[in-house]
Amino acid sequence: MPRFDVISQGEELLSGSTVDTNAGWICHELAEIGLEPGRVTVVGDVFDDIRDVIGEAARRVTVVICTGGLGPTSDDLTSEAAAAAFDQVTVSNPEALAQVEERYRARKREMPPANRKQAVLPVGATVLVNHLGTAPGFRMEEGGTVLFFLPGVPFEMKAMVKEHVIPELRARFVLPPRRTVVLRCMGIAESVAAQKMEGFERPGVLVGYRANMPEVHVKLHLAAGIEAEPLIAEVRARLGDVIFGVDTGSLAEVVGGHLRARGETIATAESCTAGRIAAALGAVPGASDYLLGGAVVYSNAEKVRQCGVDPDILEEFGAVSEPVARALAEGIRARVGATWGLGVTGIAGPGGGSPEKPIGTVHFALAGPTGTLHRKVHLPFERERVLLFTVGAALDLLRREVEGST
Ligand code: AMP
Ligand code: MG
Repeated sequence: MPRFDVISQGEELLSGSTVDTNAGWICHELAEIGLEPGRVTVVGDVFDDIRDVIGEAARRVTVVICTGGLGPTSDDLTSEAAAAAFDQVTVSNPEALAQVEERYRARKREMPPANRKQAVLPVGATVLVNHLGTAPGFRMEEGGTVLFFLPGVPFEMKAMVKEHVIPELRARFVLPPRRTVVLRCMGIAESVAAQKMEGFERPGVLVGYRANMPEVHVKLHLAAGIEAEPLIAEVRARLGDVIFGVDTGSLAEVVGGHLRARGETIATAESCTAGRIAAALGAVPGASDYLLGGAVVYSNAEKVRQCGVDPDILEEFGAVSEPVARALAEGIRARVGATWGLGVTGIAGPGGGSPEKPIGTVHFALAGPTGTLHRKVHLPFERERVLLFTVGAALDLLRREVEGST
């Protein structure tokens, strides 16, 4: 398997003012097509350092991807350093210059003289078109290694990896056809999933895990010729109904798909999550097919006013209780006229806990055509995670009701 190194260039990455998101993204994309990640290096705006890491990477591996440092300012040194790494010089590349000039013409702006620098490339480098910004990229070949130099701006870099890098790597190397199957789970810890998957690996099948809170993803990396379906069935047998999707989008997207297929609708009444469940559903394109609306009912007065919760049950059981969750779900369902009403009330912390109702206590209720379900959970986390997992658990309760029977 060909190995690759990634070099992220920029002082801002070393100082911590910008987080290096480019390297991780590149590693993921190239690993997906069958290359093996070698090293990731972050280097500042120091000429000798940039020259050295480029030279070292080229000696170590067969593919090098370098991002950043292609701008017009004096701290953008990558082109000069790349030339120096291979004892070469730079020249103004006419094709690159035409591209930079064209970007300015298209924007009807005068090109500042400083931008001519972006067209100064190592002798023999090939220009890579950047459709989204002024800095052209370039590629070089040195002693059997191919090196790609791309701008640091993430969306420009990503477009260029897709347009230039991946097609060239696919053409250049015989990459084993692989497939990755992602089984998305809700309601299981990563460690528990890993324990249940123990001994699953076999020749041609690698298992990976990713905690994508509140979801856990179990990934099967399959070599060419390995059939996915029997393996998926075996994982289902091990993990059970915590799997809500195979190669699907998020839980909100999956739940939304089930609702759409059934021609059903949903409304939410949210206390502790303050609208996050509705927001998760609404983040999915086309949610208007099934998401009717909802209420943020933080105070008791709003629980009464917007959902018709009986003040007596609030008084008797407290806001965080089964009867209130049920009343929220039933109240919002009736008032909005949805197929399903989802009610949530809980204590996200850090204040407000008590021995009977510790922080992380959440009551959910789902009111539907045949009655109302209730669940109580205890999420022993800090506030942000309590809220994240509450959204996940609420959507999962709905998912279990609407999946499979369309
Ligand atoms: P440059 O191409 O070096 O001029 O970088 C342009 C901008 O892209 C920088 O100001 C950063 O905001 C961003 N950037 C550069 N490198 C990275 C990286 N490795 N990860 C995320 N953002 C980056
Ligand atoms: Mg820079």
